[in-house]
Amino acid sequence: MICFCLTGQTIEENLRLCERHARHADLVELRADFLSAGELGAACKFPTLLAERAPGMAAILTIRRQSEGGRYGGDERRRVEALAQGVGAGFSFVDLEHDLHAPSIDASLRHSAVTVIRSRHDTTHMRPDPARELGALPRNDLELPKLAAHVAGFSDAARMMLGAVEYAALHGQARRDGSGEAHRERPGGESRFLMVGMGPYGVPTRILARRLGCAWSYASASGEAAPGQLSPEVLDTLYRVRSHGPRTGVLCVIGDPIEHSRSPEFHNARLVADKRDAVYVPMRVDDFDAWLQLAHALPITGASVTVPLKEQALLAAERRDDAAEAVGAANTLLRTTGGGYMATNTDVAGFLAPFAEMELPRHATVIGAGGAARAVVFALLKQGCHVTIVNRTHERADKLAESMRSLTGLGRSMVKVLPLDDLGEVEHGALVVQTTTVGMTPEEEADPCPRLRFRGDELVYDIVYTPEYTRFRRRAEAAGCRTISGRRMFEGQGQEQYRLFATAARFD
Ligand code: NAP
Repeated sequence: MICFCLTGQTIEENLRLCERHARHADLVELRADFLSAGELGAACKFPTLLAERAPGMAAILTIRRQSEGGRYGGDERRRVEALAQGVGAGFSFVDLEHDLHAPSIDASLRHSAVTVIRSRHDTTHMRPDPARELGALPRNDLELPKLAAHVAGFSDAARMMLGAVEYAALHGQARRDGSGEAHRERPGGESRFLMVGMGPYGVPTRILARRLGCAWSYASASGEAAPGQLSPEVLDTLYRVRSHGPRTGVLCVIGDPIEHSRSPEFHNARLVADKRDAVYVPMRVDDFDAWLQLAHALPITGASVTVPLKEQALLAAERRDDAAEAVGAANTLLRTTGGGYMATNTDVAGFLAPFAEMELPRHATVIGAGGAARAVVFALLKQGCHVTIVNRTHERADKLAESMRSLTGLGRSMVKVLPLDDLGEVEHGALVVQTTTVGMTPEEEADPCPRLRFRGDELVYDIVYTPEYTRFRRRAEAAGCRTISGRRMFEGQGQEQYRLFATAARFD
């Protein structure tokens, strides 16, 4: 389920938000601490108005005080009074902090069917044992425990997710009566706890909330209610949170930063098309060992690996294939049936993808000698191509050529090195591959090799994909060359990655 947090300043503004986002949410939380001073008294009217404007939606009343990360800084008696009034006003839930016990609220609760969300918010740091923290909060038919904590890094996020798994296992997902019938009488169903990691490292705790056993995932339109919150649309349509259950397969992309990655759109679209019960989650990871611990425990069936974790991923994997070995880095980890991880690098297959439809020239000049160039040179040599490497730092080109010769057993006639300044023209009909970072956004007008003159019959492949039309590519096309965009390689490596995920992973 998705809970939509309402942070408007007026009841009317919140009702409009509900109308706009209702189809992507199952319940709403009125964050009455965001209401302007004069509006707090009108919070009681909200459930009735909600029933008219967005029928069928359950509502939570929350008036979070500042000490727990909310906006309410007013008189505590006034807050307690508003909460007590709210209990009788048609809200399904009321969120009460773990240390808030007021006779007036207790009296209202005695005569109502309202469930209490008994919450603890650690806004500056996470305590060491989240399962224990949650376990210390009341859990019964009338109260639902909630732990929200600021996660300062991925080790906190992993600890919280492992804590949720531990808590769910300890307390069981389904409460059953004597006949074995599971109770599903209230929103939240049989999942009777909530756990949220706040901040950018906590995003996976929100996307995987249902998979981890939580009753729902919190979303907001603006991310104002808590840092790291996603919109209801994103949780519902991109990550399909409402369909998740304890057996949903978990795939991810790891790196730091990760927010810019387009891989979640790419892989989740394919999972939907293939009707897989699996989700692909972005994880900002600053602690690879913490990720690995989580990956083994959940388990995570496959991961795309980006900067700066590719070398670590290669070292940590129990097995690695030729492509990963040749590139010296893993961009993909696959869970094996034995329970470990296998490292591979789909840049090799991605680079070659366009040549399924066109002939690969027999001679190639590769500009650059960095990480991507390793995958390109290895792929070309595997296809029997003669390769000349040119790089700004000549020694680096020499080193790459030497390591490729020893890896493939090929001689100097197949792998040559040329100083960058000596590159005036290449062989007729040859392939030119541009693998440096030059020409990437924001320096889009830069040219990695201005001395190179195109004759017009070369095939030019620039693996830079932001922008898609680099200056180098434009210059080649102006001379009459055919060109290939870096996007083709990017999509090719993603498709290969998905193919591996789909065959290696136990999704259902
Ligand atoms: P990298 O390991 O940092 O290597 C950078 C390369 O660029 C080195 O050869 C470096 O030469 C050269 N270089 C940097 N600044 C230069 C300059 N001012 N003039 C001349 N050469 C310069 O980077 P990488 O991981 O290989 O990535 C390279 C590019 O490939 C990036 O744009 C990346 O986005 C792209 N890429 C695309 C795909 C895809 O799927 N399309 C996949 C992987 C990578 P020195 O050795 O002299 O420093």
